[in-house]
Amino acid sequence: MKLLGKIALLALTLVVSAAWLVVLRLKDVAAPLLVGYGLLLLGLMIGLLWPGVFGRRSGRARVRALVGVPAALCTLGLYFAVVFHVTDVPVLIGLAAAATLAAALVTGLRRRRARTEPASGRARRALLLAGAGALLGVLSGISTSRVDRYRRDLLARGAEEREQAVNATGGRRRISDGAVRVFPIHTGDTIVTYGQFYGGLDGWEGLNGYMRTLLDKAQIAVPIYAYLIDHPRHGLMLIDAGVNWEQAHDHDGYYGHDGMASRLLTERNEYKMTPEQDLQVQVARLGYDIKEISTVFLTHVHDDHAGGLRYLSHATVVMDRRDWIDGVLYPYSFGLVKDRLSFPAFDSGRYGAFPAAQDHFGDGSLVLLPTPGHSPGHMCVLLRMDDGAALFMGDTLYTLPHLAVDQVRQMTIGGADTELQLQAARRIQSLLASAQDTVPLFAHDNTPYRSAVASVFSNGRPRAAEFRTLRRHLDTVLTPDWRLRPGHTPRFVPPSSGAGIGEVDFR
Ligand SMILES: [Zn+2]
Repeated sequence: MKLLGKIALLALTLVVSAAWLVVLRLKDVAAPLLVGYGLLLLGLMIGLLWPGVFGRRSGRARVRALVGVPAALCTLGLYFAVVFHVTDVPVLIGLAAAATLAAALVTGLRRRRARTEPASGRARRALLLAGAGALLGVLSGISTSRVDRYRRDLLARGAEEREQAVNATGGRRRISDGAVRVFPIHTGDTIVTYGQFYGGLDGWEGLNGYMRTLLDKAQIAVPIYAYLIDHPRHGLMLIDAGVNWEQAHDHDGYYGHDGMASRLLTERNEYKMTPEQDLQVQVARLGYDIKEISTVFLTHVHDDHAGGLRYLSHATVVMDRRDWIDGVLYPYSFGLVKDRLSFPAFDSGRYGAFPAAQDHFGDGSLVLLPTPGHSPGHMCVLLRMDDGAALFMGDTLYTLPHLAVDQVRQMTIGGADTELQLQAARRIQSLLASAQDTVPLFAHDNTPYRSAVASVFSNGRPRAAEFRTLRRHLDTVLTPDWRLRPGHTPRFVPPSSGAGIGEVDFR
């Protein structure tokens, strides 16, 4: 029984260590370092549980010296190498203060127990430790305000840069001529593993896929798009909200709002954003005031689509209830809008291949189509424009080549969710096949289709001929039975220096 207990303890420690390494994001730590760290932890546990293993006498003391100290130093080293951020300084000093004060207390109490020993030496040590602890406590307090100032300065500089970007020349003047307009808004880039984006048919699925995103070093940068809609009857609306400035530039502060777990589970360098790419800046550059946006249609809850909600506390957020109940990972992004959510009933009947839909305004101008799979309540949005229609894809399919779901697939959750996502993709194929004036608009397209869209939508109002141009682009990439034509299969191109961000090539 004692042996079983020890084995259970050993297993528990290894599980906790593995979880810690996942938090450290395995791909950021060199493999030899990880192996050494693992061996040290294992040695430490075995030595503590079976003290005789590493030597006959005073086993525990030996383990502490030979394995324990290096394991502790390695943990600290990994922490500093991967997780550390300047905002941690006060916490680290505070912990050191607490540990020193505890040591002082222990030294002081021990003196009382061993009455026969000369007490003066220990008393002095206890006093010294207590003094050091108090000093560290004061330092921790001082560093808190300095770190706060550092963060405030950083954010203020960002705000200034964005202000300048708003006022730079070349902004658009707003036109009110009764036309429906759509503007693609590139709110920065996200760094993802190539497999997460394109490897769905090469084993990137479910838990296995998730583990690979932690390990795989083949990374690419892909854009994050939101879309602004200027509608003569329904006002200013947004499809998805992209990421916000803090997510990209103050990761630890932003995700710190949801606690340490959010901070550790999100990648610190996941998002890249220039001042010009900020959602508020772009809306202003297009001639609108962000406060005019009355409705945000959120295709799904993921944080690269919801971050911009921090700027939109005045808007109504329309999203599928299932995503709100089961899908929110980082609630802080929703903090300002959680009382302004509106959940569609999806009771407007069939829409083509879709068994349910929501005609949001009741006039056919904007239809919400449930496409669960990527998230529990993902939806696509179909907008009728003057000379065609736009189908906002969210993350159901990342790019144009993803429409060939049997050849190119993004990472899926696995099981029933993968099936649902495939079903959604086939319904989208069917919708696009039956409506030749409809063009898909993606949230993360990094293919040449992206620049075709940018040019056709540059003034927000494509004419029929331009819708046809985009559809012709579709036909050059995909066959009528949704297979890729030669020259359009994605392939990872590693970075030339061996480390860093790779590229995607289509051949
Ligand atoms: Zn997503």
